[in-house]
Amino acid sequence: LSGKLNGVFDRLRRRGALSEADVSEALREVRIALLEADVALPVVKDIVNKVRERSVGQEVIRSVSPAQQVIKIVNDCLVEALGGGAPGTDGVEHVPGLSLNAAPPVAILMIGLQGSGKTTTSGKIALRLRTRDRKKVLLASLDVQRPAAQLQLETLAKQAGVTSLPIVKGQSPLEIAARAMQVARGELYDVVILDTAGRLSIDEELMAEVAAVKAATKPHESLLVVDAMTGQDAVNTARSFNERVGVTGIVMTRVDGDARGGAALSMRAVTGAPIKLLGAGEKLDALEDFHPDRIAGRILGMGDIVSLVERAAETIDKAEAEKLAAKMQKGQFDLEDYAAQLKQINKMGSLSGILGMLPGIGKLKSQLEGANLDNSILKRQAAIIGSMTPKERRSPEILKASRKRRIALGSGTTVQEVNRLLKQFDDMSVMMKRMNKLGQKGLMRGGLG
Ligand code: GDP
Ligand code: MG
Repeated sequence: LSGKLNGVFDRLRRRGALSEADVSEALREVRIALLEADVALPVVKDIVNKVRERSVGQEVIRSVSPAQQVIKIVNDCLVEALGGGAPGTDGVEHVPGLSLNAAPPVAILMIGLQGSGKTTTSGKIALRLRTRDRKKVLLASLDVQRPAAQLQLETLAKQAGVTSLPIVKGQSPLEIAARAMQVARGELYDVVILDTAGRLSIDEELMAEVAAVKAATKPHESLLVVDAMTGQDAVNTARSFNERVGVTGIVMTRVDGDARGGAALSMRAVTGAPIKLLGAGEKLDALEDFHPDRIAGRILGMGDIVSLVERAAETIDKAEAEKLAAKMQKGQFDLEDYAAQLKQINKMGSLSGILGMLPGIGKLKSQLEGANLDNSILKRQAAIIGSMTPKERRSPEILKASRKRRIALGSGTTVQEVNRLLKQFDDMSVMMKRMNKLGQKGLMRGGLG
């Protein structure tokens, strides 16, 4: 047993830090992956810079390559960047991101380029709101550009089981919008979905028209609908719509295709608006909630590596914890180990992070959290241990008043703090002893026994 264990722990001890070169090399690969996924170039640059900052100097996880570890960091950055679209606070559970918390009729304005999926998505949202949230929904098409557009929405409304605003020939989009709001107020609709016309590319006329409709109807949501296949143009589209009209949320359509969805990242980055829903097919029920981790995985396309690194990181921290438990059991846990733990705790951001790795530790964990071990205290404790002689660290019981005074002076702390540390170390030792059996079980299960 101990031979095998030592092997594991030697490897742990020899961990170094991720170097600039490691990170740069990995990031070349990542850059290409992101561009291939249609993430816009300026957004790729931002992500790469953020990852570089976060990676260099991080401790290397031995059982994976530095490149793999960087990819995991990229994944985490992507999830963060895509974040948002969390369940709404308005109690409308089934359309998580959609904010409908206003006096009815609540208007939702659908905007985006032609063919992005605005009309289809209008029908999908209507169906969802009607069936799951029991909302009374009115659909209105403001698309006077294409002759069949208003009929298309009428057909979708029938399929969704909601009403569409009667078509009146010759009205302008602004007139239709005003009529829709009037009907909605008069007939007590909960939600009015205003489906606007798109253009093949952004133009001034389109923007002015949409902005005017928005000013007149004061929609609670202005949803930018984008095709997941949109590549580098995504940034320009999003920026123009956001600057001229203002975007409160994004719907990405055609995620059922093979596009990797980099557009989502670009849109989110440029507008700051959360991605709220995904369109995953032509049918009306093909509407999905947005999960940042899924899209991040799809954009990066390196899911295997990410889960590999996650597993490796878990194993290592578990091995550290088990090492600690093993030392405790042999009565070998000393202040040297405590100092090493302090370092690890600092790295992980919290004590509970480490303890959480051990099975059945919930109660001890909360006790320790109650012990007020914040990070500044941990740093001072590390300084105190640093001022001890090796002998003192191995046998803290020899620490009497004069030694304590010397240590306090050397570490720029007080004798009280030294005492507090020793007390804490004692408490921890007691707890570690109680943890032993659990730790031991962990060792056996891990196949190391
Ligand atoms: P609009 O011009 O923005 O109103 O776009 P439409 O809603 O008319 O959609 C254009 C085409 O894209 C139609 O053929 C839709 O069936 C199709 N479409 C819309 N959303 C999706 C989607 O999520 N997946 C797939 N595969 N097709 C979609
Ligand atoms: Mg349309």
